[in-house]
Formats: sequence, C-alpha cells, structure tokens
Amino acid sequence: MRKLLYNSTRGKEVGLTASEAIVKGLAKDGGLFVPSYIPMVDIDFESLKDKPYQEIACYILGMFLTDFTDEEIKHCVYSAYDNKFDDDKIAPLVKKDGLFYLELFHGSTIAFKDMALSILPYLLTTAAKKQGITKDIVILTATSGDTGKAALAGFSDVKGTKIIVFYPKSGVSVIQERQMITSEGSNTHVVGITGNFDDAQTGVKEIFNNDIYRKQLEDKGYQLSSANSINIGRLLPQIVYYVYTYAKMLKNEEIKTGESINVVVPTGNFGNILAAYYAKKLGTPIDKLICASNDNKVLYDFFKTGTYDKRREFILTISPSMDILISSNLERLIYEISGENPDMLNNFMEKLESEGIYTITGEMKDKLVDFHPEFADYVKTKDAIKKEYTNTNYILDPHTAVAKAAYDSYISKITDETKTVIISTASPYKFTKSSLVAIDDKFKNMDDFALLDELNKMSGIKIPMAVKNIDQRKIIHNTVCNKEDMQQVILDFLIK
Ligand SMILES: *Cc1c(COP(=O)(O)O)cnc(C)c1O
Repeated sequence: MRKLLYNSTRGKEVGLTASEAIVKGLAKDGGLFVPSYIPMVDIDFESLKDKPYQEIACYILGMFLTDFTDEEIKHCVYSAYDNKFDDDKIAPLVKKDGLFYLELFHGSTIAFKDMALSILPYLLTTAAKKQGITKDIVILTATSGDTGKAALAGFSDVKGTKIIVFYPKSGVSVIQERQMITSEGSNTHVVGITGNFDDAQTGVKEIFNNDIYRKQLEDKGYQLSSANSINIGRLLPQIVYYVYTYAKMLKNEEIKTGESINVVVPTGNFGNILAAYYAKKLGTPIDKLICASNDNKVLYDFFKTGTYDKRREFILTISPSMDILISSNLERLIYEISGENPDMLNNFMEKLESEGIYTITGEMKDKLVDFHPEFADYVKTKDAIKKEYTNTNYILDPHTAVAKAAYDSYISKITDETKTVIISTASPYKFTKSSLVAIDDKFKNMDDFALLDELNKMSGIKIPMAVKNIDQRKIIHNTVCNKEDMQQVILDFLIK
C-alpha cells in the first residue's frame, strides 16, 4: 500500500509519517495534522458485518497508520479495547422506537472520550519507539472534567508514560473530582488549581511553549506530550465506530447493502462528527451528518450562514462537554473545503484570533451540503429525556438528549425515511442529576451519590464500575497549587 503522509493545515510542516504526527500532536506552525488523502478503498461490508470491533479497528487503522506494522496495530487495538469495556461489543447499537443509539460509553469513564483515549497511549508509545525516542513520555493535560479522567484511565500504568492532570479545584462536579482524585496507577498525578479552567489551560500551554523548561525535563529523561483532542491519534480511532455501526446495521438486517444511514452527533470540539465525515469519505454509506449543538450554537450558525462568530456569551448548560465556542477540529474541515489551501486557512484562523469572526466563501459553503445543523436549548433537551423515558424507558444523558432533540427538530421539517443512528456520548450515570431532574423535579435536592441508586431502580441498568461506591474510594491525590507553581509541582513529581 502507498504510504500515507500527514500535513499541517497551516502548510509549514508537511510529509510527516503517522507516527511523527502522533508524537508531535500539534504542528509547530500552530496547525493540525491531516492525512494527505483519504484512502480510496472498496470496503466490503458483507465481510465486515460479522467481525468484532477489534478486527474492524485493525482494518481501518491499518489504512491510516501506514508506517505501523500489522503487529503494532494489533498490539494497540487489543490493549485498548479489552475488558476495560463493560460490554464485549465495545460499542453496542441499541434500537428504541425505530431509532438507533450507538452507545459509546462502555469504557472506563463511561463517556465517549474513552473510545480514543484508551488507544492513544499505545499509539503514542508505539510511535515513540519507532522513532527511537527512549525518554519517558509525560502527558500534561488541563481538564474541565471529562477528558482528565479519561486520560488518567487510558494512561494508567502504561509503561514509558507518566500523566499529570490539572483541574480547577472548584470548577468540576463532585463526581468528576472524586473520579480523578481516586485514580490508581503508579504513573498518575492529579493536581487541583486554585483558579478556573482557563488558568489551568494557560498554565499548561505556557509549559509547552517554554523551551528552557522543556529542555530541563529532557535532560532528566522526559519528553512532554499532549492527549489533547487535536492529536490525530485521537481522531483516527473514532472513524472505526462509524464503519462498525454500518456493518452491524447490515448484520441486523436493518438496512440492505449500499443503503445509506444518517448519523446525529452531539458536537463540541467537532472531533466526533469529523470522524463521521472521514468514514463517509472512506466509503461508508452515510447520507446526512446532523450536527447537534446546545445553546452554545456557534456551529449551527456557521453551517447556516457560512460565518463563524465566537463573539458571544458563553452559556453554561447541562451538557457541559459541548460548552465550547472554539471548535478546534473544524479547522481540519475548513482546510479541506478550501481545496487544501493553507494560505486561505491561515487567513481565516488569523481573523478568528484577532477579530473572533470569519466568513468562508460561497464556493466553500457549497461543499458543506452533507452537514445539517440543529440545536437544542435547555427546555428541548429536558423534554427529549423525559419523552424518551416515557416512551421507551431508556434514560438519555443530557449530551445524547441534545442529539435526540436535534433529530426530532430535523424530522419535523423534512421528510426523510433514512435509518438514523444517534451517537450516544455519555452514560446517564455520568450526569445523573440532570438526567433524573429532567424526568422528575423531585430529584432536585437529592445528593449525587444517592441518585445513582435511584437511576439504577428506574433504568434497571447496573451501576457502572466507574461510579460504583465512588464516595467510599480512597483519595490518592491531594495536591493543590497556584497556577504560578505548576512548573515546580511537575518537577517535584518527576524528579524525586
Ligand atoms: C467531548 C464530548 C462531546 C463533544 O464531542 P466533540 O468531539 O468535542 O465534538 C459530546 N458529548 C460528550 C459526553 C463528550 O464528552
């Protein structure tokens, strides 16, 4: 097979192998790495339909990671998608009232970030080894809640890595904090910052940009890296579950060979839905990509008008993982519809930075026909949870509920009989309070831990390991520091 190379969207770093792009994470010119072409293949879904998730993952990743050997890919896939998942299908597809939900929340932290963060550590260590990097890789992550725990779970006890997570001490939910500070694994560190998420994020960025500090760590045998969602090593594994879903729809005789499906994706940073777009380009028969936003509907407005405008109030919603005004991964799509023109792309990104707004050309907008935007506010999201529970006894988390509400809005305007898959990104057990209060106000004043039992009674679904007895687990991490002290804290952890 032809070797697939990766280029930066901003045009200054080109021709990297997959493993180089994964280890670098972000390009030096500030751009994101994209594959120089999407492999042209004739996917034989008839032969894929009986295959387990892992085999489909090896097949798809093999097309993109052309400098990895088959054995290396197998090692990564089978180390990631194992009994850390509480369902051996890894991503089960359930049918409720004629609609399909692809449940991406059966990993260690019961949210879809596990799909990528369980394999990234293996891709990263394998890629580093291929390049002769012998230093330990130190992952630095700032988190507003979800990514931190998923990264801790993914990297826990992975040889050759250490992970340090910074979170705003008073800015995450009780359960989120408890999940992080009880993290096991001898290579994990968790630090609360006396400040907000921006302070944590800025602190981490400053460390990445501080050449003297990085050199100091390198001399001690450590190489910094990031598990951020713009790493191409997080995006590629997400293509897999779209191909897998299509194969399973065929197997279950819900569709005929070649028949298209729609997908509805609750969207924040635009990673998940971009993976769906890549799956489509790869030849998966996907018709509409329905992009579901919450009240922070920058993307909805963008797809409607061609103008991306982040100059607006940031709204805190009950789907916090989608509370985003700058969807980083959109840059990859903009680059593509510009005809892979880095000058144009740079111009848009500079405008976004300096003025907070840019407008694409009419010609570019015409290339976005496959994307259909919808959004759901608080009331619609709540109603979607309540309605689904009343109809089918299935309890949606608020992120998935945004997608369900978006689909309801879509189908109320357009006649479309295409079979549709809603991408279900979190377990209701992760957002117990919002899910239950949507069903009945009486849950409003109950504490989060008690609500786990209520949810169990109502849904009949076992309390997942990720949150079971979490209030009784031993607190392992108790470091708290100011933003100014982050660099020293890292040194204290690494150099004892
Ligand atoms: C991160 C996240 C999203 C948004 O996904 P993007 O790839 O950032 O668009 C949606 N739902 C949940 C539960 C998430 O954790």
